[in-house]
Amino acid sequence: MNVMEIYETMEYGPAPESPTLVLDWLKEHQPFGLFINGQWVKPASGKYLDTINPSTGKPLAQVAAANSNDVDAAVAAARVAAETWSKTPGHTRARYLYAIARHIQKHSRLLAVLESMDNGKPIRETRDLDIPLVARHFYYHAGWAQLMASELPGYEPVGVVGQIIPWNFPLLMLSWKIAPALAMGNTVVLKPARYTPLTALKFAEIVQEIGLPPGVVNILTGEASQVGDALVLHPGVNKIAFTGSTDVGRTLRRATAGSGKKLSLELGGKSPFIVFDDADLDSVVEGVVDAIWFNQGQVCCAGSRLLVQEDIADRLINKLRARMEKLRIGDPLDKAVDIGAIVSSAQLQEIQRLVAQGVEEGAVMWQPSWACPTEGYFFPPTLFTNVSPATTIAQVEIFGPVLVSMTFRTPAEAVELANNTRYGLAASVWSENINLALDVAPKLKAGTVWVNCTNLFDASSGFGGYRESGFGREGGKEGLYEYVRPMWETSSSSSNGLPIAIESTHSSDGSEQAVSTDEAGEDEMDHTTVSESFNGYHLALPAIDRTPKMFINGKQVRPDSGYSRDVYDPRGHVIGQVGEGNRKDIRNAVEAAHAAGGWASSTTHNRAQILYYIAENLSVREAEFAHRLVQQTGCSGADAATEVQAAISRLFSYAAWADKYEGAVHRPPLRGVVLAMKEPIGVIGMACPSEYPLLGFISLVAPAIAMGNTVIAIPSQQSPLSAIDCYQVLETSDLPAGVVNIVTGDRDTLSQVLADHDDVESMWYFGPAEGCKRVELASAGNMKRTWVNYGHQRNWLDLVQGEGEEFLHESTHVKNIWVPYGE
Ligand code: NAD
Repeated sequence: MNVMEIYETMEYGPAPESPTLVLDWLKEHQPFGLFINGQWVKPASGKYLDTINPSTGKPLAQVAAANSNDVDAAVAAARVAAETWSKTPGHTRARYLYAIARHIQKHSRLLAVLESMDNGKPIRETRDLDIPLVARHFYYHAGWAQLMASELPGYEPVGVVGQIIPWNFPLLMLSWKIAPALAMGNTVVLKPARYTPLTALKFAEIVQEIGLPPGVVNILTGEASQVGDALVLHPGVNKIAFTGSTDVGRTLRRATAGSGKKLSLELGGKSPFIVFDDADLDSVVEGVVDAIWFNQGQVCCAGSRLLVQEDIADRLINKLRARMEKLRIGDPLDKAVDIGAIVSSAQLQEIQRLVAQGVEEGAVMWQPSWACPTEGYFFPPTLFTNVSPATTIAQVEIFGPVLVSMTFRTPAEAVELANNTRYGLAASVWSENINLALDVAPKLKAGTVWVNCTNLFDASSGFGGYRESGFGREGGKEGLYEYVRPMWETSSSSSNGLPIAIESTHSSDGSEQAVSTDEAGEDEMDHTTVSESFNGYHLALPAIDRTPKMFINGKQVRPDSGYSRDVYDPRGHVIGQVGEGNRKDIRNAVEAAHAAGGWASSTTHNRAQILYYIAENLSVREAEFAHRLVQQTGCSGADAATEVQAAISRLFSYAAWADKYEGAVHRPPLRGVVLAMKEPIGVIGMACPSEYPLLGFISLVAPAIAMGNTVIAIPSQQSPLSAIDCYQVLETSDLPAGVVNIVTGDRDTLSQVLADHDDVESMWYFGPAEGCKRVELASAGNMKRTWVNYGHQRNWLDLVQGEGEEFLHESTHVKNIWVPYGE
């Protein structure tokens, strides 16, 4: 084929991803053991099972077949670990979850290829969707671990959670289960699906890699009949979290009824995809491709029932058929492939059976003209028309690439048809008329409704069903409640008949490991004696002079004035100099902060990532920052270490809040909703407190930038070096230029310039009462918002005074968007 022909046909060549690294990894590890108490152990049965590559039908690896003895061992390990993990501070748990997220990213390609080979789904999906969403889930829940104490007061972890997941999104479902459980202080025993255990085993390796305390995560592979029942019925398990079919969910509801075990069920679906006649049909076609051919249709919320307004049905069906003709099926590791293999031969047979039944029941079946690969388990995209709503294919979850379509005339009929199912997982509504879409959406009995889109997921938005699609939510704050219970329950549990957590008979190994990370900084460290000799050289030479500059527009700059001011230690010795900032420096900083306004529209996830990165880089230089505090303030090494630790924790808190301090939806007395959206204020000037030179600075800057503002900070007047040292941390943390600007000098002079400046939208001032008054007076110029402390010092170490809602509130304002609806 020559270049001209390629241009004309736009035909792709194959672009296969190499399986070599995955095959090497499998060879090294198999047969795989069970992951119990942080160790790989042989299964009590001595038996192993093959896991098959669905695109070839050939075995990929051997995994252990656990039985009830292994379940006992895993639950015992989880119980012991729960004693410590449940008391491990939120910040420590956040660090572990964060480390898991980082390691998922480090191994992302291996995980993507492994998932694709084990499940049969296209590498394009595992690489671009599954694995990034897995990492996102752990990042997001690291945030909730950090915030649990303040945001879920009065709640405690449930204890040991048994988790059972399906094969359609193996690692993603694992993350939906494990991340919130660990964040809330639970320990887990997880059973992956029989067909797709491999990424869970790689995950176990990651758990070892990051040094998660033993027993917090245990993974048992094997048959449902051997592991599932034993786990569900085990008296040492406090909660079961299950994702799978409605039939098994029903069995679990019955099995756990009356036991006091908490239960969450994410089950099947038969989700409607509703297209009104004013919809953009080209978008609709792509939407349908996503809704039902993504992951070969093996998606619980797949838009498997296409409901089309009668007058456009023929046009849409023709467009769809043309698109189906162009879908590419084949080797899941080929990056140009749209549709991969069905997970197993049993599942393939089930799809074939239901499709045959559809034909028998009188529906019209259409498939593209091309043929599927003959090796492996493939099934072509399939479209049924002329489907009657009561038939099997219109009611039963096929869990394959099979779409059934029906027509309606009016919106009311569409709603009726959509709700004509025992399920209620998701729905998708397509119309260019927002009034109509928002009128229909609340009437659909489904946990998620997508307007002009489909299959969108994010850790921040809860997912779960109505009716026979199950109960409980995964993701969002609402998902956390599945993994906690009110504290009062524990104290009154013996008297009211609720089950009491089973006491462990084991000693608590691993406990120190869990807590010690957080306490590491408490060591007596006295950095005043640091570096008196180094590698045998006595440091008689003067240190190389270091001139901290100011930080404007992402660059280190000298002060416009050309003057420096001395910085003294508590004994009056000069320990360094900083630039003497002036009006011109402030003007440059404001300009830079304005130019960085794009920060406000960066995603909240991205902002969270950068705050985590700042924390990470600060923690690398923990000792140096503590030393600087001792030098400037004369505090003890231990106090300095505490301040640095608190600053790191604070960065974690606002990284956590970045994607969680959200708006609300109000229901005023009209037909419609009001979307109350939190927005950043813009450019914020801030005079940092003199005390706590590092923590004071971080406590103000972090919430402001987490919410999308850009800032000009004047560091502690007495001890500016800690804030100035931070620019080296900021420079290495992917923070865009101009988001944080630091100008040193006389606090009150610089504050006055900021408060006077018309392009500064808010001014924060933490200093003496007279300074506060001056800032408030000056701000009247452009009526900027101010936040001042009226001379009252805060205890910046205290969580109530030093972080939280007040800071987020000062960093945002609320915009209300009114959306009346109804035809
Ligand atoms: P399944 O119910 O057969 O199996 C799910 C898991 O449960 C597997 O790990 C299986 O080994 C285990 N299991 C089976 N019988 C059990 C028993 N008696 N006791 C304990 N555990 C048992 O489902 P599947 O075929 O693996 O997955 C497909 C189903 O999952 C579909 O119905 C799909 O809609 C549903 N699903 C739902 C969601 C959701 O979030 N709602 C997400 C993905 C999949």
